[in-house]
Amino acid sequence: MSWRTEGLSITTLTIIDLCRESVESYSKAGKEVRVARPKRCPACGCKNIIFWGKRARWAIDDTHAWRIYAQRVKCKGCSKTHTILPDFLFCRRSHLAVIIFLALTLVFKDRHGIKAAAFRLNISRSTTFRWVKNFKANSDLLYQRLSSLYRTAYPHAPPPAPTTDLCAAVLDLSKGLFTARHNRAPRGEDVSRWLSQFTCGYLLALPTKGGHCAADRLFASLFLGS
Ligand SMILES: [Zn+2]
Repeated sequence: MSWRTEGLSITTLTIIDLCRESVESYSKAGKEVRVARPKRCPACGCKNIIFWGKRARWAIDDTHAWRIYAQRVKCKGCSKTHTILPDFLFCRRSHLAVIIFLALTLVFKDRHGIKAAAFRLNISRSTTFRWVKNFKANSDLLYQRLSSLYRTAYPHAPPPAPTTDLCAAVLDLSKGLFTARHNRAPRGEDVSRWLSQFTCGYLLALPTKGGHCAADRLFASLFLGS
């Protein structure tokens, strides 16, 4: 039985590639794009993983839609296929991670309304609303995990308390942790890529209904590493 997906009906997981490339160069490489082979299967932990074709998908920013090819891999241990995404994307989202991060920052830090944030980033209101809703649903788990990391990075400074807004505290913690690790002020793109790596791409993937469905537990097990 797999170590992360016991009792869950999981066929495909996302693996985030620690990609240094821009979306432009990733797109330009087309089907020739190269990614590192994952060391372990995220479902069962098996090390015997083979490349298994590529699948076209979109990567959208505020002005352009880039066609990219995401590498798929197959685990010889559990026979499941997984998709490797560059870290400028989150799983199940076509917009670039940095656009999503900027939208969340506009709403939760700069206190813009959803309509104003969507207009500023040239995104539909309904898309922005879904991002905000899912981020809110994940914010408790994100805050717990990020504040734990923050205490490790800054043992003598308490993490920002979520006194008024948990979502704003999560964004502050993300920036603070990036600064602690890289010793420089982060750009939005830096933090969004780091968040994609940190959440295994599942930043916004937690369903908002039910609370205890398979995807919830999968997210928690990937994210918390349990
Ligand atoms: Zn496997």
